[in-house]
Amino acid sequence: MAPELRVRGFSAVRPGTVLPAAPRSVDIARWCAEQGWPVHPLAFGRKTPAGNCGGCRAPGHTHSGCTCPAEGRWCHGFRAATCDAERILRWWRKAPEAGVGVSCGPAGLVVIDIDAHGQSLPDRDCLLPGIPVPPQVDLTGLANGYHTLALLAALRGAPDPADDEDTLRVRTPSGGLHVWYRAPDARSWQSSAGSGGGRALAWQVDVRAHGGYIVAPGTWTRAGTYRALGACRKPAVLPAWLAEELKRTGHLPRKSQAGPWQPPPRARQAVAAAGGGGQGPLGILVPVLAEVAACAAQSQGTGFSEKLNRASYTAGGLVTAGFLTHQQAEQILQDTAAAARPGQDRKAAGIIRSGMSAGARRPLYLRREG
Ligand SMILES: [Zn+2]
Ligand SMILES: [Zn+2]
Repeated sequence: MAPELRVRGFSAVRPGTVLPAAPRSVDIARWCAEQGWPVHPLAFGRKTPAGNCGGCRAPGHTHSGCTCPAEGRWCHGFRAATCDAERILRWWRKAPEAGVGVSCGPAGLVVIDIDAHGQSLPDRDCLLPGIPVPPQVDLTGLANGYHTLALLAALRGAPDPADDEDTLRVRTPSGGLHVWYRAPDARSWQSSAGSGGGRALAWQVDVRAHGGYIVAPGTWTRAGTYRALGACRKPAVLPAWLAEELKRTGHLPRKSQAGPWQPPPRARQAVAAAGGGGQGPLGILVPVLAEVAACAAQSQGTGFSEKLNRASYTAGGLVTAGFLTHQQAEQILQDTAAAARPGQDRKAAGIIRSGMSAGARRPLYLRREG
């Protein structure tokens, strides 16, 4: 696909033609921010985020609890992304050539990232996870993500997103295509990589949403420039059929499908036994437990340990203050942790033990409700 485009580009340029100047990175960043898309700088000439500060490069350091993004440093990639005009100016004054990344989740974007890598074909049942491709479907010529996505669309009787001229589409230097969509509802669509384990939409098709970023159109890299196709520069609303497919393939956490998180039954029993309602101990414990439970949506990068530690600390304080027994609190935490990270009971037990004993030294005294 790329060579064909290049040929077309050459033939269009006659001697003496004045080519439009390439947009400056800061203008691309500003334009994105005007659309309400938080941005962060990329490493010079590359599609990866700009490097962290010295402190954030220290072994064992993670984004959770790091103050750099809040203090205006670009550490931790999309987690530092901003729409703040002053911060954008400052970042790109410091690194004028840095490309622009857009943090998809907070921007309300779901970007379908189609690859055209020369990989050998996987087993036919891995082309469209969850959809067995019938033997009568001839796979001759099927070679990349364009084809698997077209196949999925055809099976659903829907138009191929790669041909969608009513939404922003961006050609990548490697011949891939980013199809940008808006997800205006507040549901947290999750990212995926089409080749990896876990959720996937199609072979060689990635999904960039929460927990991911996308290279902004106009960005230059050593491999080439990310160019918007056609005239459309606005992402259209995510088509309903595609939203259904994303849901079917696990791109929507159970939490945001099934209403607000409910504490585990044992927690409700324990609190009922302690005579507490929503304003009592559970009122404090539920939000921190819900944070732990929400980690079930992704297998990593959710700050699970830190969240479990915080919940354990809170529970420890409630135990010392006499709202729950030690055993009740431990059970609640273990149930919640096991639901979010099955098979990691030993690790969770360690975090719960140390968090509870730290919290026990700072008891939480609540006003008892009449
Ligand atoms: Zn830092
Ligand atoms: Zn940091």
